[in-house]
Amino acid sequence: MIQRTLAIIKPDAVERRLTGRIIERIEAAGFQIRAMRRVHLSKGEAEGFYEVHRSRPFFGSLTQFMSSGPAVVLVLEADQAITKWRALMGATDPAEAEAGTLRKEFAQSIERNATHGSDAPETAAYEIGYFFAGVDLA
Ligand code: ATP
Ligand code: MG
Repeated sequence: MIQRTLAIIKPDAVERRLTGRIIERIEAAGFQIRAMRRVHLSKGEAEGFYEVHRSRPFFGSLTQFMSSGPAVVLVLEADQAITKWRALMGATDPAEAEAGTLRKEFAQSIERNATHGSDAPETAAYEIGYFFAGVDLA
């Protein structure tokens, strides 16, 4: 089933000029990039994006980090895009990520972990709509 997911190249990776290498890996894995832009989130915008994590102990630190510099947001399309992108990213904690995954290669810590991916169809729809209008995806 062809599906879309939201990917973010997080501020830690953009700052270290890893955007091009990560996009190269995305395309080599067979995703179509349906939309893409650079965005510097405000703290409030980062909080809105991570609303589901509001009660988690790392919420303040995470939203601080996500608003600390520009990120690149993308809509990726592929067969089973949600699980396929999460597999390419690897585990949240780079210490647990498998060899060959983006987080194993590029993440600095469990928080500064280079990339984001939606975790279910409902969250993908919310997250894509958070950054892109329907006209951007036509
Ligand atoms: P993402 O949602 O970014 O794709 P994920 O689904 O693997 O990552 P979540 O549990 O949704 O992980 O956590 C969202 C983000 O919060 C993580 O990507 C990471 O940046 C940060 N995070 C998660 N757990 C921790 C933690 N224990 N300490 C600090 N930051 C954390
Ligand atoms: Mg998540």
